[in-house]
Amino acid sequence: MQSVLKKYFGFSEFRPYQRDVIEKILEKRDCLVVMATGSGKSLCYQVPPLVASKTGIVVSPLISLMQDQVMALKQRGIRAEYIGSAQTDPTVQTKAESGQFDILFLTPEKACSISTSFWLNLLKAGICLFAVDEAHCISEWGHDFRVEYKKLDKLRGVLSDVPFVGLTATATEKVRGDIISSLKMCNPYVSVGSFDRTNLFYVVKPFNPGQHFVYELVQEISKKVASGGSTIIYCTTVKDVEQISKSLLEAGVAAGMYHGQMSNKSREESHRLFVRDELRVMVATVAFGMGIDKPDIRQVIHYGCPKSLESYYQESGRCGRDGIASVCCLYYTRSDFTKGKFYCGELQTAKQRKAVMESLIAAERYCLLTTCRRKFLLEYFGENVSSDRCGNCDNCIVSKKQRDLSTEVFLLLACIQSCRGRWGLNMPIDILRGSRAKKILDAQFDKLPLHGLGKDHPSNWWKALGHQLISHGYLKETVDDVYRTVSVSPKGMQFLASSTPDYQPPIVLTVTAEMLD
Ligand code: ADP
Ligand code: ZN
Repeated sequence: MQSVLKKYFGFSEFRPYQRDVIEKILEKRDCLVVMATGSGKSLCYQVPPLVASKTGIVVSPLISLMQDQVMALKQRGIRAEYIGSAQTDPTVQTKAESGQFDILFLTPEKACSISTSFWLNLLKAGICLFAVDEAHCISEWGHDFRVEYKKLDKLRGVLSDVPFVGLTATATEKVRGDIISSLKMCNPYVSVGSFDRTNLFYVVKPFNPGQHFVYELVQEISKKVASGGSTIIYCTTVKDVEQISKSLLEAGVAAGMYHGQMSNKSREESHRLFVRDELRVMVATVAFGMGIDKPDIRQVIHYGCPKSLESYYQESGRCGRDGIASVCCLYYTRSDFTKGKFYCGELQTAKQRKAVMESLIAAERYCLLTTCRRKFLLEYFGENVSSDRCGNCDNCIVSKKQRDLSTEVFLLLACIQSCRGRWGLNMPIDILRGSRAKKILDAQFDKLPLHGLGKDHPSNWWKALGHQLISHGYLKETVDDVYRTVSVSPKGMQFLASSTPDYQPPIVLTVTAEMLD
């Protein structure tokens, strides 16, 4: 193992988890490797085939990614190839079948559609491992579900004696379980690393869409570009990409564009200029994604809230790979959070829709958070974090206004409790604000003693409070299909039980930007 590492990769030491995983693979044990981007996962499937002198199969979602990897491996003297729609050499498959490659990349479509005789022949020549890269694509709970990945389990029967290796940088407990069961892994060795990227500073800001904001953003970015390093700006739509890059160009900032509606050729050109530092700023949709391996990206800006924290973490994690302090900044507007039903548009099952809704709600919560953002992110990915303050996110360094909001908390909780049913936050807030909308009159909520008692604050104020109460555990939000329901949690019930309309135990909360009315 050590000599392979030195000979082909030029490294003298394995990272501790790499050694463990490689040993387990060589013992033919199934493995699940969950590690942050940049932690060196690829080595886990690249080394065993070279040690065992058998072919390693790697399923990977993108042809461009496979092409890059094949090229890099060939340069190291490793016999690597890929089979996929873009492969023009007809002899690759025959060569592969007779075991002439150390590492063979396949798209999931190809892996499922290639003939069984191919696998049987290759088995005779020797297969060292069957690796599934970006394995979260297999899970409907993941942020990047791909139907073809789901079909890979068919191969388990054919390759019964070959260790299966799933690799991903993003996996919550649910996704992890899904990968294991979908690949029919048997007693897998699971290696989970810390996701903490200590050099990244997390900051979130609300914004009002419009020319003025774009102007401010451009000023901000120009300053950053002047101080060195590269920037990626992720937009949620192609229209935004075009608008922001135009504004940057007008302000004299060399910015490239990258989105799905551009031709392959111009996308590649953009990518190339960015990697070579001829463009310091890339304005892109999430299409600018996997396979970006630039070490000195100093900031990743999200213009609009992403669909999930999994994708946010992956996208924002593209900055600071060299370990130098870098910034992940997210700008959101309220309307970003109402797109859930829209995102669910074409989804077939209630389970898929619920997954999309829950992902978006988690992202919304991250935006509206008043406590440490790093802790929230890491806990979302299943890590235990003992410290409440990381000292390297906006909420940990900005001095905050705190106030006893117990009276308002009492009103909101009591109102949610008294209009019990399947409502989100809007209904109780409308009641508190004294609305006489038809749905309120129909349900006779105008007769509730609380009706109109919260007129002093606008609905966004109440929403901001509601979200703090969710994140502090006084309220519980659940999702069924695309419907969000808020209810009072046991902790909230305890508060209500010890309160009267005239007295409530103090609850000190943060007055967020949206609550400064
Ligand atoms: P991942 O797939 O987890 O995102 P990569 O496999 O692309 O990460 O590796 C990230 C970087 O770490 C690469 O530049 C790789 O060469 C380097 N690397 C991996 N393993 C080692 C090692 N044992 N020693 C030194 N550098 C390593
Ligand atoms: Zn923090």
